[in-house]
Amino acid sequence: MRTRHQITGAAIVAASALGGVGLTLAGPSGTADATPAVSSTAASTSCTTASRVFQLRGGGTQIWAASISKANSTKPSVYGWQKVYTVTGAKGLSIAAHSEGKESIQILLSDQTGALRSLAYNKKDGKVTSARTLAKGGTTTKPGAYRFTSLTSDGTRVWGAGSGRLTVMTGISTTKAPTGRSTVAGLKGFYPAAFWANAGGSYEIAWTDSKGNVRYGNISATKGWHLANTTTVAKGWTSDAITTPGAGIVLRSSGDNLVRHHVNPSAKTGKVTRTTTLTKTFKAPNTIPMTTVPDTCKTTAPPQSSSGYSLPLDKGAQPRSEYDDPHHDYPSLDLAVPTGTSVKAIRGGRVTHVGGGCGNGVQISADDGGSYVYCHLSTRSVAPGATVKAGQLIGKSGNTGHSTGPHLHVQLKTGSTLRCPQPLLLAVYDGKTAPSLNSLPTSGCSY
Ligand SMILES: [Zn+2]
Repeated sequence: MRTRHQITGAAIVAASALGGVGLTLAGPSGTADATPAVSSTAASTSCTTASRVFQLRGGGTQIWAASISKANSTKPSVYGWQKVYTVTGAKGLSIAAHSEGKESIQILLSDQTGALRSLAYNKKDGKVTSARTLAKGGTTTKPGAYRFTSLTSDGTRVWGAGSGRLTVMTGISTTKAPTGRSTVAGLKGFYPAAFWANAGGSYEIAWTDSKGNVRYGNISATKGWHLANTTTVAKGWTSDAITTPGAGIVLRSSGDNLVRHHVNPSAKTGKVTRTTTLTKTFKAPNTIPMTTVPDTCKTTAPPQSSSGYSLPLDKGAQPRSEYDDPHHDYPSLDLAVPTGTSVKAIRGGRVTHVGGGCGNGVQISADDGGSYVYCHLSTRSVAPGATVKAGQLIGKSGNTGHSTGPHLHVQLKTGSTLRCPQPLLLAVYDGKTAPSLNSLPTSGCSY
């Protein structure tokens, strides 16, 4: 239950949904998920995964889109950039992909005059199907309230950088300007090149300063949006085009290359742990901002096997290949997911809270005789003594306890014997009948 050094990702779904516009806006942060229905059939999530890397970029008056595939493999590739829209008469676009629906993505734009616009990007044909001005701008010398040089979104909030400040906007819709707006304190001389935000109550941000250093910090809504725990992650990054799909993955341009970095997203030990060049044909013009699509799809009920088990995450949160990863040191499973990801009970049973190195941990004495432990949660949503069903929300993932990066640690015991949860979860993922706990191996799933 300690460090998660390697953060995997990037199962890419390009334009795959059916036609039409169907925006799905995420609810406010902290809203409890509905308890998923327990079903005996395997459900699928059609939208996205937490590690998807669908990209947009803006420059001049144009919007471009691309997807990266196989970004986690040895030979990643990038689909060609395609121009999808021209915003007539609006130069200096900054772009955020705010939310993703089954069929379309809501894109928010700000321009040099401080206007704010909302577009619906159709995933099937790659075209913009509707556009609306949410707030009018002014002039370049006397701009309106939304002139930012960089925009990003975690699906709940939109973050705008410009004029040495970082602004947080809430209450986003497709029809009107954001209803909430505040400035992050503690960011002086903010160079508006990059930042990221993970879903949940606290946010991690990274940016490049005017000296090319990548700086990292975290901010919390409950502390008045104050920046804290800043550290320098890397030096000598001069690129302007930088973004992240979350969970400690940072993408940036470097000349004609598109580079992927794994950053240990801990304020105390933040550093780049791995660097991969994704493509040498990126050809991003200087000063073009990139953005990625936040993972905001509404997910269906997690799949249940006929014997009453659930995945601990919504099926779209991680690909199947994450469920067979070995754990460091002893039998268990680590799942790298951004802070705030919903965690579900694998099997129903009675709840106990646990702490220590487990952080905000939940232990469930399950009705199959197993003891299931879920560690490092940011919040717990079940009280000690409560009885839960398989698939029920038990909390949100986090980075508490003995952990140096956001992830979910899952541990399974029969009596005092640690069992490998991997075969069980793979069976659940595949919609097959779960193996008996006593048939699960007690070794072979750690390194
Ligand atoms: Zn672990």
